[in-house]
Amino acid sequence: MITSIKTTRVTQSRLETVDFNNLGFGSVFSDHMFQVDYVNGFWSEPEIVPYGPFSIAPGALCLHYGQSVFEGLKAYMGVDGLPRIFRPDRNASRLQNSCKRLCIPAFDESLFLMALDHLVQLDANWIPKERGKALYFRPLIIGLEANLTVKPSDNYRFYIMSSPVREYFSKSNPTISLKAEHSFTRAAPGGMGHAKTAGNYAASLLPGIRSLSEGHDQVLWLDGVNHEYVEEVGQMNIFFQIGNKVITPELRGTILPGVTRDSVLELLRRRGIVCEERRVSIQEIVDAAYAGSLVEAFGAGTAAVIAPVGNIDVNGQQIEINNSAPGPLASSLYNEILDIQTGVSDDVFNWNRMVSL
Ligand SMILES: *Cc1c(COP(=O)(O)O)cnc(C)c1O
Repeated sequence: MITSIKTTRVTQSRLETVDFNNLGFGSVFSDHMFQVDYVNGFWSEPEIVPYGPFSIAPGALCLHYGQSVFEGLKAYMGVDGLPRIFRPDRNASRLQNSCKRLCIPAFDESLFLMALDHLVQLDANWIPKERGKALYFRPLIIGLEANLTVKPSDNYRFYIMSSPVREYFSKSNPTISLKAEHSFTRAAPGGMGHAKTAGNYAASLLPGIRSLSEGHDQVLWLDGVNHEYVEEVGQMNIFFQIGNKVITPELRGTILPGVTRDSVLELLRRRGIVCEERRVSIQEIVDAAYAGSLVEAFGAGTAAVIAPVGNIDVNGQQIEINNSAPGPLASSLYNEILDIQTGVSDDVFNWNRMVSL
């Protein structure tokens, strides 16, 4: 069991060069990163080092065959001045599951959590203080063996970098518009949809830019068999309010089990709202819209937290939701989650990992 991490600090922080009023998403990196290598059948000594490039072999398996898994999670600065990492235990276990699917060796989840604590402590000044902004952590494990055979790598690097990010909501564009995708598929049964792995995102690029060129913000993914059932939206899980029930697609292997999805379900159920995790067809959504019972729709994921949907293009039919404005359910969930993440309200579910400074 590892209790400390060998740390090399930067000699000069880059913090002063960052404009916190103009943060994008993931284009600026904080001073430090964590890294540990897997060689000869073991994870070696972990380290924290200055963020920066490292060299890998051109033949590294991750580059050729996509043996790569990642995570995304955030640390928020609490209103009491203490940093909080949101549900990192969930990301640890999901990363472990992604590793299984990609034949990557298991790692020590307690080391993952400790690495996050240390990174938060070292780069605490990189956590934006303004409401909605956060320090986004990107853990990644890649196969490094130089080998052109299609096989699991013998060697890996596990590293964690962080990036201060803005809030997702913009006043000029408060809802997203979706295109229901009837041709391309994100994930098929038996594939890797439940794993956060590079290949799934490579597959989403072309449909993503096509929907953008048609004036939509995100792709509404339908199932890979008949393009009949709703699965996800962009890189988020999807929720619909129909009448007074909330419906989200059930996790059946093709859907990424989102931490935000799970948090939304817990919060809604605590409010006494009936939530159904089940298959939901795009036809059911269209029918509900025409019947006037489609009240709201929103995406849920770490980056946006909650992203209200204003419009869905279904084969050229335009489904408008809540007059293209954020609805009360989406808005209240966004604030409820952010209040917990920033210590404004009680952390009744014990979701925050508090970090002492
Ligand atoms: C990461 C991700 C999500 C959201 O998961 P969170 O844990 O809530 O961030 C949903 N769908 C896909 C495809 C994702 O990659």
